[in-house]
This record gives sequence, structure tokens and C-alpha cells, in this order.
Amino acid sequence: MTLTADQVLFEKAKRHIPGGVNSPVRAFVGVGGTPVFVSRAKGAYMYDTEGREYIDYVGSWGPMILGHAHPKVIDAVKLACDDGLSFGAPTPFETTMADLIADIMPHIELIRMVSSGTEATMSAIRLARGYTGRDKIVKFEGCYHGHSDSLLVKAGSGMLDIGEPTSKGVPADFAKHTITLPYNDTQALQSAFDKFGDEFACVILEPIAGNMNMVIPSQEFHNTLRELCTKHGAVLIFDEVMTGFRVGLKGASHHFGITPDLSTFGKIIGAGLPVGAFGGKREIMECIAPLGGVYQAGTLSGNPLAMRAGKAMFDELTRPDFYEQLTAKTAKLVNGLQKLADKHGIDFSSCYVGGMFGLFFSKELPKNFDDVAHADTKRFNQFFHAMLEQGVYLAPSAFEAAFMSIAHTDDDIERTLVCADKAFGELIG
Ligand SMILES: *Cc1c(COP(=O)(O)O)cnc(C)c1O
Repeated sequence: MTLTADQVLFEKAKRHIPGGVNSPVRAFVGVGGTPVFVSRAKGAYMYDTEGREYIDYVGSWGPMILGHAHPKVIDAVKLACDDGLSFGAPTPFETTMADLIADIMPHIELIRMVSSGTEATMSAIRLARGYTGRDKIVKFEGCYHGHSDSLLVKAGSGMLDIGEPTSKGVPADFAKHTITLPYNDTQALQSAFDKFGDEFACVILEPIAGNMNMVIPSQEFHNTLRELCTKHGAVLIFDEVMTGFRVGLKGASHHFGITPDLSTFGKIIGAGLPVGAFGGKREIMECIAPLGGVYQAGTLSGNPLAMRAGKAMFDELTRPDFYEQLTAKTAKLVNGLQKLADKHGIDFSSCYVGGMFGLFFSKELPKNFDDVAHADTKRFNQFFHAMLEQGVYLAPSAFEAAFMSIAHTDDDIERTLVCADKAFGELIG
């Protein structure tokens, strides 16, 4: 049997890289088969090592909202390269970035740059604990906040039990400070606060979930959460690493009209370079070193390449109608897919906000992690591979959201729908 180019590359990669990948979802474990090895990308397209073109709806898991290799971003990075890659000293570009974000989101009074979303949420939680002097934190089932110890925790057997680690290597002693509640469940939230409210340092959530496929919680859930956090003095952290500048310029907090105490960012703000950030209320942020006693640092934080790439990208995002255009593209694709699934008599549901969307092989639109887990993943995997074969790159997991970029043309979307018509038609079982 002759191996494909990707199979050869995957075998080579496995010799010295665990599982052949540097982040697990890239290994195609959920959908089976061999990952596509990418050589380059431009606009809406990625190209494998043999030059095969894919219409890409992953966009590096969110950052590529302008499409790949946007000329203005690439030029900004090239210019930045000529000036040196890192200084370990302040640069004016960091101030520009902080000002830009604070202008777009006025509830961000102070903001600190880090190098990943994981660092942003980990630091925001330490800050909330330092600010409140409390240890317990609350998270929600199906929300992902990176891979720091306190956050790799799921619910224990009883709903309000202490948490259990979801990864080996996380001490039970850490997990016991994390309470995991069902997402989008106002009643469970109320009960947890009734019992422990005054012990909570913070509640962290994805305000629109994008790591259990995509789930949009109710306005009531958000209103209740904001009220309870205020009443009990718990810091409300919106993890907008995915949704920030993705569901709209002002993110999910604006979508729901909720002002969180702290917000975390990543993905889009680096335009594809490794960046994260956390920010919010001045009174809380002033607890961070060097102003306060909560320690947080980073050798490469505020890296000049990343800041200058981010600035070039924000120049595009803040153009009038950017998000209207992006949303129209997402709507055209998602509504088109829904119509095709209905035509083929397939149980299918879908949702979108701005440039982010969720596709489910289930009759009803999922409202929480349990619902997502009950959708037909076998069908999803068949659909994924049928699309991949035709040159459409969807997220290789039924538990991930998908992303539109401004570079996707009507023609790209129509081509995607033609492929989907065929893929839906071939679904068996
Ligand atoms: C991707 C993501 C993270 C983690 O960011 P990394 O840069 O991968 O560390 C955290 N929170 C959310 C909501 C994310 O989508």
C-alpha cells in the first residue's frame, strides 16, 4: 500500500513529536484519518504540501479573521522584523495596543499583554483570587479556558461537589477549589451561589461557548450571573479569547449588554502571532505587579511583532461595516447549509454570531454540553471527511466552532454549499 504525502509526513512527525502534533486537536483523533500538513495559506485558502487547495473555515482556530497572510499584516510584521524581534523593555507599540482595546471596550481600564490565551485566563484567575482573598472558582461544563491546572477540572459526581481533574497530573488539591456547573442553567447557578457565594473568588465563562462546538446562552443566564457576582463580591471573568473581536467588534459582552469585571483575550488580537491579554476594572487590575502584590510576568509579553501585527489588523476591523459584511457571509453559509440539510431530510441545527458558527447533527439546537454530546458525531465525522475530500476544511472535531473570514467570497461560499449538497446526500446511517 502506498502512503499519501500526509501519511508520510505524519509518520515522520511522530518520531520526535508526541502524537506528531503540538496541540492535540490537530491529530484528527476525533474524526479519524490523517491530518492535512499545511505548507502555506492565503486569503480563504490553505494549501497542503502537494499544492492542494482547501477553503478554510478554521482560520487557525479564530485568529485569521482577515483571511490568511493579509498583505497589511504581513507588511507590518516585515517592518517590525527589521527593527528587531524582542527587547525585554517597554515599546510604544504596547501602549498603542492597550489604547486601541480600551477605546473599543471602555470597561477595559487597564490591560496586560501575555503570550497565549492560557496565560491570560490563568493570570486573571490568580488576580481574582488575590483581589478577593478567596480560593474557590466557578467554571462551566464544556467551556475551555486553556490548560492551566485550576481549569482542567470537571464536575464531581454530585452537582455542587468539589471538582475532579480532567487531566492526569492535576493535583486533586487544586481541583477541589474549582466548582463546575452546567452551562446556561440559571437554576444551578442560583443554587451554587446560595450555598458558597461568599467563598467564590470568581466565575469564569465563555460568554458564547466556542469550545463545545458553539452554544449561545440565554440573556437570563447572563443577567442572573452578573447580579449574583455583584451581590456576592465574586469577580466576573468573561473569557473572550475566542469571541473577542470575533462575534462583533465589541465582543460578547456587548452582544449581551453585560459588563464583566475582567476579560481575557487571545487569538484574534495577535493576528496569528502568539498573544493573549487580560484586562478590566482599574481597581482589580491595580493588584497586579508592579502596582500590587499579585505576581505576573513574561519575557516575550507585548512582543513587538505581535503588537504591530495586531495594530495592522485592528485598522481593518475598525473599518465601517466590517462586521456587517462578515456576518452576512456567515449567514449566507450557515443558512445555506441548514436549507440543504433540511432538503436531504437530515436532523441538523446551526447557529452563528458575527464570524463564528456552530453546526450540529441534531434536530434541536444544543443548549449545553450534554446536548452537544448527544448530537450525532458519527454523521459529523462522515460529513467532515466528505467535505475535506472535496477541498473544504472544517474543524476536525464535532466539539469545535467554525470561523468565517472577511476574505471568503460569495463564490467560495457557493462552492462550499455545492460540496455540502453532495456530502449531505452521501450520509449513511
Ligand atoms: C483558545 C482558547 C483559550 C486558550 O488559548 P491558547 O492561546 O490556546 O492558550 C482559552 N479560552 C478560550 C475561550 C479559547 O477559545
